[in-house]
Amino acid sequence: MADEIRNFCVKCDENIGDAAQAKILKCNGQCNKVIHQTCSSYNASEWQFLETNKDNIKWFCDGCSQATTVKVSQ
Ligand SMILES: [Zn+2]
Ligand SMILES: [Zn+2]
Repeated sequence: MADEIRNFCVKCDENIGDAAQAKILKCNGQCNKVIHQTCSSYNASEWQFLETNKDNIKWFCDGCSQATTVKVSQ
């Protein structure tokens, strides 16, 4: 039985479904949620930077970043 992957957006709380089709970032915190580009406050170049470096950068949603002090250098 395959694990069902649930990607809920931290902002709009929608299930994103097939993550490969959507512009999303995954939270590295405990919530296991993601955020849509359109729900984030990042502009296009910031988003592209995060997406390009997602293997090296740990992104945390607002809820998780309050518990963890992580800053993405710009
Ligand atoms: Zn959203
Ligand atoms: Zn989170």
